[in-house]
Parts: sequence; C-alpha cells; structure tokens
Amino acid sequence: MDTWTYAPAPESAALARLQPSYRPFVDGGFVDGGGEPLKTVNPATGEVLAEVGTADESDVDRAVAAARLAFETTWGPMPGAERAKYLFRIARIVAERARELAVLETLDNGKPIRESRDVDVPTASAHLFHHAGWADKLQYAGLGPDPRPLGVVGAVIPWNFPLLMAAWKIAPALACGNTIVLKPAETTPLTALVLAEIAAEAGLPAEVLNVLPGAGDVGSALVGHDGLDKVAFTGSTEVGKQIQGRLAGTGRRLTLELGGKAANIVYDDAPLDQAVEGVIEGIFFNQGHVCCAGSRLLVQESIADEFDELLRRRIETLRVGDPLDKNTDVGAINSAAQLDRIVELAAAGDAEGARRWTSPCPLPERGLFFPPTVFSGVEQTMRVAREEIFGPVLSVLTFRTPDEAVAKANNTPYGLSAGIWTDKGAKALWTAQRMRAGVVWTNTFNRFDPTAPFGGYRESGFGREGGLAGLAAYADG
Ligand code: NDP
Repeated sequence: MDTWTYAPAPESAALARLQPSYRPFVDGGFVDGGGEPLKTVNPATGEVLAEVGTADESDVDRAVAAARLAFETTWGPMPGAERAKYLFRIARIVAERARELAVLETLDNGKPIRESRDVDVPTASAHLFHHAGWADKLQYAGLGPDPRPLGVVGAVIPWNFPLLMAAWKIAPALACGNTIVLKPAETTPLTALVLAEIAAEAGLPAEVLNVLPGAGDVGSALVGHDGLDKVAFTGSTEVGKQIQGRLAGTGRRLTLELGGKAANIVYDDAPLDQAVEGVIEGIFFNQGHVCCAGSRLLVQESIADEFDELLRRRIETLRVGDPLDKNTDVGAINSAAQLDRIVELAAAGDAEGARRWTSPCPLPERGLFFPPTVFSGVEQTMRVAREEIFGPVLSVLTFRTPDEAVAKANNTPYGLSAGIWTDKGAKALWTAQRMRAGVVWTNTFNRFDPTAPFGGYRESGFGREGGLAGLAAYADG
C-alpha cells in the first residue's frame, strides 16, 4: 500500500431519498407533463436513477400563466419583509436537507461528494440566505428609491451545477418580487425538483416557482414565450447567441452567463506550491465542467520546467473514481455526449502538435470517466487554447514578460474569469486591471460568494449574478 492509498469511504446513496419517478412542478404541485418521460442516469455507473416526466409547450404556457397570476395577485404585491420570510425558510430547509441534496446531486451529476457537500449545496443555501436579506432592503441597494420587480422570469440552467444554478436564478428573482419558471438541464433535473418540493414545504405561495424538466425544446419554448418579462440563461455560447437573437426587439430583459477559456497566470515570483494547488483547483474542480475554469495555464518561461514537474507530481495524486467516495477528487463526466466532446478536442490537441500528458491514475471499469490531462507546447492558434473543452484538460502556454502574459490571457473571444499568481501586490493589481474578464482571482481560484458579482464580457455573456449588480438584473430602478 503506497502513501496515497486510502480505504474507501463511500457516502450512502440511500441518503438521497431517490424516488422512482419525478414530475414537473406547476401551479404549486407536481403534475403530469405532456412531454415524453426521460430516464435520468448516474454517469458513474450507467444505472437509471429515476424516470422524470417532462413538459411540453402547453405546460410552458400553463407555467407562465401561473407565474403571471402569482406575480399580479400574491407575490408581486407582497411587502418585501413578507417575501423574505419565505426565502429564509427555503434557505433553512436547503441547509437542513444538505446531506440528502448533496448525495442526490452527486448521483445525478457525477461530481465528487466532497464538492457537492462542501461547495454546491452550502453555496446554494448561502445565495438564498443572502437574497432573503435583501428582500426588504431593496430601496437601499442603489437601484433607485423604489425598485420594481420585472415580472415573470424564464430561467434555463445547465447540468454542471444543477442546484447552485437554480439557486442563483431563483433567489434574486424572488427577492426582488418576480415569479419564475425554471428549466433544469435534461441530464440533471433531480435537485431542482427537490428544491420545488422544499419551496412547497416552506409554504411559498403556489405558482411563484414552477420547474419544467425537459430537453432543449422545452428551454426553447420557454425562452421564446411572449408571456415573459425576462430571460436568464446559463449554458453554451452557441445557445446563448440564439436566445439573444430571438429576444432582440422584444423589449424583454436578458442576462446570459455563457462559456469561458480562462487564463491562470503564474509569475516566476509566485509561491509555487500554492500556485500548483490553485491551478489544479482551477481546472480539475467539477471535472473541469466549469464555465470559469482556469483551462489555460500561462506560466512564466523561467519557471516553466520546474512548475511542470511540480504540477504533474501533484496531479498524479488526484483520485479519479466513485463520486460517492469522500476521497475522490475527480468524478464522472456528466454525459456520453460531453465525454465525446472532450475526447474529440483532446484529439485535436494531438493533431495540432501539442504534447499530451495523462495522469497514470487508474480509472473505474464502468461509467463515464476521463483522466486528468495536460497539454504542453500549446500555441495560441490551437483548438485546445481557443475552445472551451469543459473537461479535465489543461492547456499550458508560456510567456516572458507581464505584457505578453496580459496579451495572451486576453487573446480569447471569451471574458469570464482569470487567475493571477504572484508574490507582489503591485504586480497582481497591474495585471488584474488589464484582464478583460468579469472575475479576477489573485492567489486563489474558483471562489464563489453571494456578495460578489459573477458574470462575463464578450462571448461569455452579460449581466451579473450575485452582489448588488446581480439584484439589478431582476429589478427596475
Ligand atoms: P446548452 O447550452 O445546450 O445547455 C444549457 C441549457 O439550455 C440546458 O438546460 C439545455 O437543455 C438548454 N437548451 C438547449 N438548447 C436550447 C435552446 N435552443 N433554447 C433554450 N434552451 C436550450 O449546453 P450543453 O449542455 O449542450 O453543453 C455544450 C457545451 O456548452 C459544453 O461542452 C460546454 O462547453 C458549454 N457549456 C457551458 C456552460 C456554462 O456554464 N457556461 C454550461 C453548460 C455547457 P438540455 O439540457 O436539455 O440540452
């Protein structure tokens, strides 16, 4: 047994209280949707977890009409202090049912239990608590003397942080007095439906929150619905662009949180051991299925060999495997389609002449897995430097001067996040000021807080989630 072998420490799947079937949540109750039911699968094993009823266009009509009614009769006119009580209750129940939600998220998504337990669920609860606190103080949020809700929000979210993205949309929307229709991703609908159950348990007035599982066609019917006042979308840049085109000229508000290809810049004066940890956190957290992942490492040429050695030695110790095992660092890839995309982009890296290194870690025999991978010798023109891989694949480029680091970091159509590693505060500030990215982390990476606005520039989208700027996306001053 070597130093890095741990005894298995699996969390019990029974904690998820998995039901054999789930249904859309409309009008304050679970209903039979008109769409074809889908089977949601555990990507780590291939086992079917549950059957999920899906919505069709008539369900979208019904959910939007219900949300409109609630906006006009109950939720819209309700004083902020009253709205806050419901949000506080929902936040508390999420915290109380944290273990169940974490296990359910890990089963449905494939992410390590350590992450769903320590990041996804607590951050979702924190967002709900934070926004509950704002509901009766909106006139002090810098949005004008009498901020008004927008109306009915249509929200479409992706599969990489299913519960957290639901909370990021629901919390500010409801705090500001809007009502909402939410479509979770086809492959990860379960925690959003449990969140709907929690909302009902908290006594949230019927119709305020509606959840419609289904595939992209349900998302498309929702975002194009003329009964909405605002669309909030998180997902791929391609779909985001389509939605922007469809909403142009309608007067409906839109926020888009799309892809990224973030640079993580390591200067030669950086504390290298900490930087290695941060670079690993930046790209291997959540299997790299993170829009703000630090997928391009820019390392100063003078330390490139030393850093490369440290990085590989540390990556070799990452454990890839059973997401329910508390020792697992890297879990399963969420879907076969996403795994195919990672395999294809990695092959493009080989074909374009980048040098691939793969961690020698053992992979489970079944399920969807991809080993931690590093491409070095990457040129800026290569696909692995330009396209969002959305997997555990790091592309390494080098630079000689701070100006070159900045130029290379900004040489991307995206602009969501960036990381800077240096011992010098002035250098960190100089670099941060020049990053064309919505979020810049210094000597850390992937830190999320409800008080801090998150969002992008250019092809990473527009609008912010979290902080005062996040509230402004759901209210008119
Ligand atoms: P999508 O943008 O297709 O999915 C995001 C959400 O939008 C899902 O709920 C999806 O439904 C829904 N959707 C799909 N088509 C439409 C449409 N025409 N109108 C409205 N809603 C729609 O992303 P994918 O899951 O297909 O992932 C593809 C790539 O996108 C990834 O490889 C990654 O690079 C990037 N991505 C980026 C994310 C981010 O956070 N920035 C998140 C997810 C993906 P359904 O689940 O049924 O397809």
